[in-house]
Amino acid sequence: MTRGGRRVLVTGGAGFIGSHLCRRLLERGEEVLCVDNFYTGRRENIRDLVAHPLFEVLRQDITFPLYVEVDQIYNLACPASPKHYQFDPVQTTKTSVHGAINMLGLAKRLRVPILQASTSEVYGDPEVHPQPESYWGRVNPIGPRSCYDEGKRCAETLFFDYHRQHGLAIRVARIFNTYGPNMQAEDGRVVSNFIVQALRGEDITIFGDGLQTRSFCYVDDMVEALLRLMDNPENSTGPVNLGNPAERSIRDIAEAVLRLTGSRSQIVFHPLPVDDPRQRQPDIREARRLLGWEPVTALEDGLQRTIDYFRSTL
Ligand code: NAD
Ligand code: UDP
Repeated sequence: MTRGGRRVLVTGGAGFIGSHLCRRLLERGEEVLCVDNFYTGRRENIRDLVAHPLFEVLRQDITFPLYVEVDQIYNLACPASPKHYQFDPVQTTKTSVHGAINMLGLAKRLRVPILQASTSEVYGDPEVHPQPESYWGRVNPIGPRSCYDEGKRCAETLFFDYHRQHGLAIRVARIFNTYGPNMQAEDGRVVSNFIVQALRGEDITIFGDGLQTRSFCYVDDMVEALLRLMDNPENSTGPVNLGNPAERSIRDIAEAVLRLTGSRSQIVFHPLPVDDPRQRQPDIREARRLLGWEPVTALEDGLQRTIDYFRSTL
């Protein structure tokens, strides 16, 4: 690599959020090492970055040790869509747990800060609403979502133990549902599913009655928050909720996508997946205080940009 700003490792850098993060880091003049096993990541997501003199890609599974020299680590590697993380649940847990151990070991050797992409799934199907960071969650340890939820919870434990035991500078971001360009058409998550179905004229598949809620954050807002958290002047560990508190039902999302695409697709109802959370909304007071951050992209604007992306790629 040519020497630029800081050398930043992004695991999962060819994935949806990771590819946007790599691009923003390069724009800031950092050197970026993108490590990905291309399980859910794609070359197309980073195609425009590979010619950049400060960008490097390494195909590597983070469940195996990694020996590189960097100044910061963003640990994003992990499939995030229920469809993909449930396909090989043992590998999902290994990625969260062994992957965290390997990346924390690397951060410990190098004495550099490391950020963990944790998730609102640590709250499970929450009884406290909206969810503050102090809420311990309600997670099923033995269900089909557990490989992801418990893997991410264990990763948080490891991050805090490395912090307490080895004095490591950690940042734990609890990311709520995020959407935008570079999601895969077949990703399986709700926003990409509905947009792709609407553009193809296929049925829009609502799981359950569609009255369950999520709070959707546009990816540019999320990347801004991750950058601010890594560089936060208080050196705060978190955990910090990152997401857009504007809560919507899944039915609302289907209707918004139909309106914005002008599609004549029909809405159909499928059974609700096991342990599908009923409600989710981040309490982002800590992110506002610590990072001076809040999302600025309205749902309709973010959906429109995502629709434009899928129109140009499908
Ligand atoms: P994604 O599936 O698009 O990206 C994950 C990336 O990690 C992919 O490029 C994949 O190939 C790579 N990867 C998976 N396992 C790996 C392994 N063992 N070794 C190396 N690379 C591996 O998902 P995303 O939406 O971009 O999510 C990024 C991170 O943010 C994940 O850790 C996810 O859990 C977290 N997160 C995302 C959301 C969201 O709504 N998008 C919400 C909460 C948390
Ligand atoms: N969902 C849906 N239709 C789809 C995909 C998802 O109704 O085609 C629902 C899903 O059951 C959940 C919500 O949308 O209630 C969000 O699902 P997603 O997989 O995007 O994220 P997560 O459940 O992990 O928040």
